[in-house]
Amino acid sequence: MHIKRNFITRIVKKSISKQPKKKIRTRFPPEPNGYLHLGHAKSIYLNFNIAKKYNGVCTLRFDDTNPKKENIKYIDAIKKDIQWLGLNLYKEPKYTSQYFYKLYKYAIQLIRNNLAYVEELNKKEIKKYRGSLKTPGKNSPFRNRTIEENLLLFKKMKSGIIPEGSMCLRAKINMKSPCMVLRDPVLYRIIFTKHHQTNHEWCIYPMYDFAHCIADALEGITHSLCTLEFQDNRQLYDWILKKLNLNQKPPKQYEFAKLNLEYAVLSKRKLQELIDKKIVQGWEDPRLHTLSGLRNKGYTSNSIKMFCEKIGITKQQNIIELSLLESCIRKDLNMTSPRRMAVINPIKIVIENIPKNHIEYFSAPNHPQIKEMGTRTIMFSQKIYIEKEDFRSTDQSNYKGLILGKKVRLKYACLIKAKKILKNQNNEIAYIVCKYYPEKTKKNKNQKKKYNIIHWISQKSAIPADFQLFDTLFTTKTPEKEKKIIPFYNPQSLIKKKGYIESIIETEIVKHAYQFERIGYFLKKNTHKKHKKYIFNRIVSLKNKYRNFID
Ligand code: ATP
Ligand code: MG
Repeated sequence: MHIKRNFITRIVKKSISKQPKKKIRTRFPPEPNGYLHLGHAKSIYLNFNIAKKYNGVCTLRFDDTNPKKENIKYIDAIKKDIQWLGLNLYKEPKYTSQYFYKLYKYAIQLIRNNLAYVEELNKKEIKKYRGSLKTPGKNSPFRNRTIEENLLLFKKMKSGIIPEGSMCLRAKINMKSPCMVLRDPVLYRIIFTKHHQTNHEWCIYPMYDFAHCIADALEGITHSLCTLEFQDNRQLYDWILKKLNLNQKPPKQYEFAKLNLEYAVLSKRKLQELIDKKIVQGWEDPRLHTLSGLRNKGYTSNSIKMFCEKIGITKQQNIIELSLLESCIRKDLNMTSPRRMAVINPIKIVIENIPKNHIEYFSAPNHPQIKEMGTRTIMFSQKIYIEKEDFRSTDQSNYKGLILGKKVRLKYACLIKAKKILKNQNNEIAYIVCKYYPEKTKKNKNQKKKYNIIHWISQKSAIPADFQLFDTLFTTKTPEKEKKIIPFYNPQSLIKKKGYIESIIETEIVKHAYQFERIGYFLKKNTHKKHKKYIFNRIVSLKNKYRNFID
């Protein structure tokens, strides 16, 4: 993948020019407390491509310092997603928990240097003492314990005899610092939950700020790339590494803007809420922008890569249009997806001038641009299906379908004219009676009048199928900004339809997806062979509109 020049590539280039022998090392550090999403893909590609471009190394490190929120199932899901993206950056995945003992020793070193103390104020009190951006913080009454006392209490914390929440270890920096992060940040807390990697070996766990910089230093990371919300934490990152004097050339943190995408939520807290409230069916729901959700819907890893390439890396927060993501998947599928016809909301047509058992065949190209993809034969008979949306009893401007009393072209076949509507007892359309006009000689081609063209399937060759059509999960473009997202849930985000597909689909194997003409790109899901029933997910429509299903 090509990485566009950005402010981080410039920083890396500059550091190489100063130290040509130094190997560039980056890392992608997910917390195993959820599945990866499109924002993580942006971060993964950045870290991976920086390493690749400059002949460096990129590692995957699970940032596993909070057993209360983490789970082995997330580790497995993250590995699977990274593999799907086609990046083998986790030959040896690392875990922050590998360094728990070292981290503990570094905490002791800080205590010994009178740079950390054991706190007994509770969470609420700590918050109160911390002050605000306008008011300076106050020193804790426990701030001036002796080093010996701190050492003893920290060891007690580690031994498991101190209850959760009643003590923690804090750095002794400056309660009046204008940078809130430097107001004696918590470094260690007590948690008795079993850890997925270390079981019950530890009951004290380092905080992100303490563990992350040290893990970076231990792994020789040169450029620690993270998102903008960690900007203030950079001062703490540098403070810890300086005080511990870990390397001569410590790693440096650089921040870039998070990915925000229209209509999508990416924050794990919000994703978790959607799952807990059963608004979606788990992390892999096709309406989510998790990597597994996108994959499940039918997105290719190549389209994700194209998208990440296009959005680039900046320091400015902005919101990316959903149409950009959709244009990437369309582009990726266009050249590889065979064209087929499917009718997803059928209405029946009976052609009066074709005898009941008469069958005709037409030839249809499998791809409009790629001749090598060949042609197929499609069956035409007295009864056919077209889309309900493709029929109107009265004319409307710009209408692209069949109008009562007018002619329409059946794609790859012939002209038909709608003559009358037959209704059932409920006054619904049972079928439409049409007349068929056989094609004249090919010589007349140039004089052909332009007719609307619609897709169709002969009843004799139609195979029943279910279709899942997705719309945006939210009705607002910026759900991430909303405190409460549920009121913005779009009840039309999943629409199920019952229709028909061409029979050829039953027997063929395709590379990835189909383009059902005029409806969009579709992925074949579970096959119920016994019932001859197929399920298709619409990956993306053919144009940028979400609500209507025919373009
Ligand atoms: P959340 O804010 O949803 O909890 P997180 O940042 O805590 O996400 P992590 O698992 O810690 O999730 O993230 C791993 C890496 O991915 C971090 O370096 C983080 O900055 C980056 N990352 C997370 N979300 C995005 C995003 N939307 N765009 C780009 N990078 C992201
Ligand atoms: Mg995080």
